[in-house]
Amino acid sequence: MRPLAKYKNGNYEVVLYEDGTKVKFTDADDFRADYPDSIDLKITDYCENNCPMCHEMSSREGRHGDLRHPIIDTFPAGMEAAIGGGNPLAHPDLLPFLERLKERGIIANLTVNVIDLKKKRDLVENLLSSRLIYGLGVSCSAYDEDAVTFALEHPNVVLHLINGIFPIADYEKLRGKNLKVLILGYKNVGKGKSFFSPTVRDRMRETKALLPVILKGFNVISFDNLALEQLDVRGVIGEERFREIYMGEDGDASMYVDLVKKEYSLSSSSEERCMIAGSLRECFHELRKKKE
Ligand code: SF4
Repeated sequence: MRPLAKYKNGNYEVVLYEDGTKVKFTDADDFRADYPDSIDLKITDYCENNCPMCHEMSSREGRHGDLRHPIIDTFPAGMEAAIGGGNPLAHPDLLPFLERLKERGIIANLTVNVIDLKKKRDLVENLLSSRLIYGLGVSCSAYDEDAVTFALEHPNVVLHLINGIFPIADYEKLRGKNLKVLILGYKNVGKGKSFFSPTVRDRMRETKALLPVILKGFNVISFDNLALEQLDVRGVIGEERFREIYMGEDGDASMYVDLVKKEYSLSSSSEERCMIAGSLRECFHELRKKKE
């Protein structure tokens, strides 16, 4: 498989492949990053979907982010940017922004809700075919036939499912179809706080119990750090396998950047935020100092 990017970061080498697989090598005992390998990048708070559990509190009144912010010029080549919102497809400067990232060698991935994908399917297909984005995350709150069809037609599409939101029975409908899925932890912030209920809690418990079965039903299955913890993935797959695939804690080689509020933090669910000042590398080093 052809590498999409190869670079050195701190004391390790990174190779990123076209299917999204990332491999890190080092002779040292641990991986010490000098800048993030990947960032979550929020570009807008505008969204028309009004989801009851929206941890971003995005709405029709939500503002768009500044896609000409100077920090963008400090993004290192090879780094992955997972662009989201709000609805990133609604940002009027999305196309020139993606063109600029591509010119700089940044690997852009986009996350959209399936509702917005259905409204702008042609635009998304153009972004994928012109390689302005490499990966596409499609958020689904339940089984969706159109999302599955789209994912089967496009190899770099990953379905995003939220622990506690995605119904247990719907995992069975997705299994065995050769799909890629990412399970995200339930975020108890924003509207996620008031939406949390016994139903959500029970669903999280049932998903955890079903995990050994879920793990077997997909072409690729991955988890964010919150879901790893909530579902005790380490306990299910065992320490040895976990160490092989674990990409590190939030802030080890990743961070969150919000171009709407011009803030950064360890992750999108961190309550402690800092105003962006200086380069991405400088912001990352500040986070590392606070973490240590
Ligand atoms: S969860 Fe996503 S799709 Fe729903 S309102 Fe929030 S940003 Fe929009």
